[in-house]
Amino acid sequence: MGNQTSSSAGPTPASSRYQSSTIPDSFFATTSTSSTSEKPPPYDTARHSSIKHADVSKSTWTRIVFTSSDQKYFSLARKDVEAHTGALIPEGRDLRGVTLPETSTTLSTLFEFIGAQKHPKLLNENFESLAEIARAAEKYKVYSAMNTCCERMRAFGDHHPKLVLLYAAYNDYPHIFDECAPRVVTSEKLEEFVPLLPDEFRLPWLRYHAIWSSALTEIISYKDIPADAWTKTCLWFGCWTECGGPIFHGLGAGVHSLNDISHIFTNLVESHTKKCESCKTLCTKWEAHASSVVEKIGVFTETCMTLDPLTKAKK
Ligand SMILES: [Zn+2]
Repeated sequence: MGNQTSSSAGPTPASSRYQSSTIPDSFFATTSTSSTSEKPPPYDTARHSSIKHADVSKSTWTRIVFTSSDQKYFSLARKDVEAHTGALIPEGRDLRGVTLPETSTTLSTLFEFIGAQKHPKLLNENFESLAEIARAAEKYKVYSAMNTCCERMRAFGDHHPKLVLLYAAYNDYPHIFDECAPRVVTSEKLEEFVPLLPDEFRLPWLRYHAIWSSALTEIISYKDIPADAWTKTCLWFGCWTECGGPIFHGLGAGVHSLNDISHIFTNLVESHTKKCESCKTLCTKWEAHASSVVEKIGVFTETCMTLDPLTKAKK
């Protein structure tokens, strides 16, 4: 699953195979429209005060000015905003100016999705920028941006599985959650990760982790290890110190050891299996067994979300 060249010096922490990010873990959990503030642009004070108690059933303004956190202004046609977004204008108020907490960089890209024009594909955005745009798209329900952001976020699942999974969890993209779940369960500390999830995912995630733990037990207790695999007769050849020992040491990392099975059964023991045919045969079969056990774990939403924790009834 990992894509970094593994070292043969010892088990590689799974998380080191993924990229770090300046995006905080709580980034997608804080999505809320409550941060939208109703503040007119400075040059609009007089006119704004005149509509303070306007009849909100009909729009007074044909354009709305949005102010970014870095004090840049964006003027958009009200009809476009109303047609393409679901939560960009504070509900029930007829305003000409709205101040948003996002930067002008994020808003300028987001607003390219509003209106009858070609929309950006976001192919060149780095992860941090994309995450900002994706969160804003969900928060303000910029419908045409949501699908593009979703697909681009999905493409970052190999490098930023935890954040992409949390984005999927908070914005209802189960297929992306399922894709990232194996990488996350085998790289994040359970006790630190569970609190980051939405409430309804916490118990299912504990179930999911338990399934991976059972899989690890099945792999460790592989029955087809020859009785004499690591006995005294092969000690001179290093079969235990260079093969059996490193494998069990690697599996000792717990569920995280299953992040990259080939690292355990191939990379860690490569120097030995190149010269020992019996260990090479054993490791090849053991790795195939381990892979089949992991494949049987199944998809998170199908395996762990089928029981409603409150009703215990099938959804
Ligand atoms: Zn050997």
